Amino acid sequence: SSFAAKRNNPDYLSVDKVSKQFGGFTAVNNVSLTIKKGEIFALLGASGCGKSTLLRMLAGFEKPSSGDIYLQGDQINNLEPYQRPINMMFQSYALFPHMTVEQNLAFGLKQDKLDKSKIQKKIDEMLSLVQMEHLKARKPHQLSGGQQQRVALARSLIKEPKLLLLDEPMGALDKKLRARMQLEIVNIIESLGVTCVMVTHDQEEAMTMADRIAIMNAGEISQVGTPSEVYEQPNSRFTAEFIGSVNILEGVVKVDEPNYVTIHCNDTEADVYIGHGITCFEGQPVAVALRPEKVAISSYAPDQKYNYVTGVVKEIGYFGSHSVYHVELPSGKEMLVTALNDIRWGNERLTWGDTVWVHWDDNAAVVITE
Ligand code: ATP
Repeated sequence: SSFAAKRNNPDYLSVDKVSKQFGGFTAVNNVSLTIKKGEIFALLGASGCGKSTLLRMLAGFEKPSSGDIYLQGDQINNLEPYQRPINMMFQSYALFPHMTVEQNLAFGLKQDKLDKSKIQKKIDEMLSLVQMEHLKARKPHQLSGGQQQRVALARSLIKEPKLLLLDEPMGALDKKLRARMQLEIVNIIESLGVTCVMVTHDQEEAMTMADRIAIMNAGEISQVGTPSEVYEQPNSRFTAEFIGSVNILEGVVKVDEPNYVTIHCNDTEADVYIGHGITCFEGQPVAVALRPEKVAISSYAPDQKYNYVTGVVKEIGYFGSHSVYHVELPSGKEMLVTALNDIRWGNERLTWGDTVWVHWDDNAAVVITE
């Protein structure tokens, strides 16, 4: 690659205006991303959003229709998969069924014509890292799902790829094992300092494993951020609704006090504070996102001028540590409120049919732009 390309791409992995068309259909639309060295980055989205197609372009199984991919400044989008210093772990693991764990790990190294003692040393290191030394003579069908996954991970890391790609890594595991393997895989990847891009449709998995997440929608990226950024500061209705549950309130701007900007909302009794000194005009339509755990619920009116609404409890979802209250507002809209079932908080016992007030602090509502 040219010096200019390297200079212009100081990021470790850089996806530059990449699109992929299949016939007339656009699966990935003008996506740009930069990923840092050592980062675990998740592509998150619903089925069909294009996340696998993007991952396959990183691996080289698909070629972009337009745009470029750079790894450490080198343009790689025209390289064949085997020419890329990249390894992919598939959801199905793709282990060789007739080979032992050890032989599965040795395979790629033998192809590279590494000498025997060096191969053995790498295998032993890897087996120890994934805690599979004691099972090295087994064949894949003699292993549990979690064990097979450890072998698949070891095999994809043993050639020290510059980039590890994970395709729905926990897809084949049950819920409890998933949660444990998520942390285990992160520990292994981080201990080696490997840069990793993973694809998942599971928001919890992305939140637990990734340093940053790109939320994809219809071939495009709707937001990139750390797990807490995408949760706390969703930039759009799509992101807000995709990650966790959320209340969306719509209204029009009403500048009450100088610089104190609120919206007048048909669903709420009180106006809703949206910010200080923000650029907007009187009457401008605005929507805000309000997470259920950022609002409080009580059987009495709060002592505040803004940010409250009254309603009736229509439904209570009990989740052990917390409950979710569905409160019907006079407008017919429903609001969700999460409350901890924690005796230390001395929460009121509210029940179906109770008239309640839902209220929140100025900093709870986040303006969403689209
Ligand atoms: P899933 O989670 O279901 O795998 P995804 O988000 O990974 O979904 P992709 O597999 O990237 O989605 O597919 C994105 C879109 O591109 C889909 O509408 C899919 O039907 C289409 N697509 C993918 N591969 C091809 C192909 N080889 N030919 C035609 N269309 C394709």
